[in-house]
Amino acid sequence: MKHHQKRKGMKNAAPRCPYCGSHTVLRSADGIYVDNSRETMLYVCKNYPACDAYVRVQPGTTIPLGTVANRELRAMRAEAHRHFNQLFKYGFMSKHDAYQWLAGILNAPRDQAHIGCLNEITCEYVTREAKKLVAWYQEKQREKNCRLRKGGAMAS
Ligand SMILES: [Zn+2]
Repeated sequence: MKHHQKRKGMKNAAPRCPYCGSHTVLRSADGIYVDNSRETMLYVCKNYPACDAYVRVQPGTTIPLGTVANRELRAMRAEAHRHFNQLFKYGFMSKHDAYQWLAGILNAPRDQAHIGCLNEITCEYVTREAKKLVAWYQEKQREKNCRLRKGGAMAS
């Protein structure tokens, strides 16, 4: 169930900064990102850079992709994302299934299971669980490869 929010009437689209309680402003990531060739737009805390908190918006919209995060949380989300991506990057499962898995471990509806919504605790949890799952798949793959090699030897 994916419904697009109307732009008009979205007065409260700009999220509050959870760290200092200030408003955020929608602006280009120029000067914040080292490379903003993708022309990313951000909701940035009004107290930036004293309060280093922001969140990306979905390209072409004013919809924030998750919650406002400071440097530490952004780094943790990037780490969680890196491990989560490995689930489908190496073909252990489809991207769709990986998001189903994420929704499952977060006990959240599929359309709310986003790395951008994670806090420090759920970031650590996702990172840990994704690492475990990747290790499990790698172990299975090793076993399979061993069997294949043995099978090949017997057949010849
Ligand atoms: Zn702030």
